[in-house]
Amino acid sequence: MLLDTFGRSHNYLRISITDNCNFRCFYCMPEDDYDFTPPARLMQKDEIIHLTKLFVDLGVNKIRLTGGEPLMRKDAGEIIEAISSLPVSLFLTTNGTRLHEFEATIKNAGIKVINISLDTLNREKFLLLTKRNQFDLVYKNILLMIDKGVRVKVNMVVMKGINENEINDFIEWTKNTAIHIRFIEFMPFTGNKWTSNKVFTWEEILGLIGKRFSFVPLENDKNDTAKSYSIEGHLGSFSVISTMSAPFCSTCNRIRLTADGKLKNCLFSKDETDLLTAYRKGEDVINLIQKNILNKKKELGGQFNNDYENLNPEIISNRSMINIGG
Ligand code: SAM
Ligand code: SF4
Repeated sequence: MLLDTFGRSHNYLRISITDNCNFRCFYCMPEDDYDFTPPARLMQKDEIIHLTKLFVDLGVNKIRLTGGEPLMRKDAGEIIEAISSLPVSLFLTTNGTRLHEFEATIKNAGIKVINISLDTLNREKFLLLTKRNQFDLVYKNILLMIDKGVRVKVNMVVMKGINENEINDFIEWTKNTAIHIRFIEFMPFTGNKWTSNKVFTWEEILGLIGKRFSFVPLENDKNDTAKSYSIEGHLGSFSVISTMSAPFCSTCNRIRLTADGKLKNCLFSKDETDLLTAYRKGEDVINLIQKNILNKKKELGGQFNNDYENLNPEIISNRSMINIGG
């Protein structure tokens, strides 16, 4: 069991299998020319599988593949297949553009829930946010996955002045579609132009929804980052993720492996442990993993607190989100 000094047990590993992406979401990928990690510095397929097995031996039983865009990686199908054969629940976070090519892989791997990112229901705004004209493809693939019996959770990063006016359009969508919408507070990462006045908090989100709909809380699991709600008569449901205004660090069970094989014990951790280099040199990786977890800070990587309104993002030392793996 991977216990930290605050008694938190870490059974949930998020693995970034690439920092490459076919989108250019400004809040995730820095505007300046982003250099994707050269393939030789990425974990190779067998390395991902071997390192994953070490984590499973240490008590990890939930794995999410992410990126960058995980389905952009050429051997993504083989990685999914190999990890699905381990004793874990496997999840995926994707921008949705290639899901139609992975229908069989997803079915064979037994993936039951997929998070698909979509921040707007407006074609023009989609182009502005992602710099790619692929709204129709993403929307179609969301419906395709639902049709195939996959539970779809839509990740919407809510940014004040950009898309908060669409929150209730997303709620409308849940009326006749069995979809779950996750409204996520905008977080600061290197190069993403975060300012506190762009954060639309979970309370503001619920306030806005409450003006048009009456909703009731659903039961959450103890490690859930999301507070979930349902609306009577709606097939779908929704949740809010309050990382900035009300962090949920006390019940955190998550750790992250970046595409270049560094272990991060928090999304905002400054320190990383280079597992890939150690593994390639034949060193004791298990000991490094345990030490890394023991160094986990109490909240938000020890870099800030929930007083996000007075947060200067310049003081945070981190990677860009695309380089961490969301
Ligand atoms: N490419 C995939 C996708 O877009 O779903 C997976 C990787 S992406 C980094 C994972 C998630 O992180 C996405 O849902 C994205 O919206 C979210 N994300 C990226 N930058 C963020 C930010 N600054 N604040 C909050 N969420 C962010
Ligand atoms: Fe790519 Fe996902 Fe980041 Fe958008 S949020 S740039 S789709 S990795």
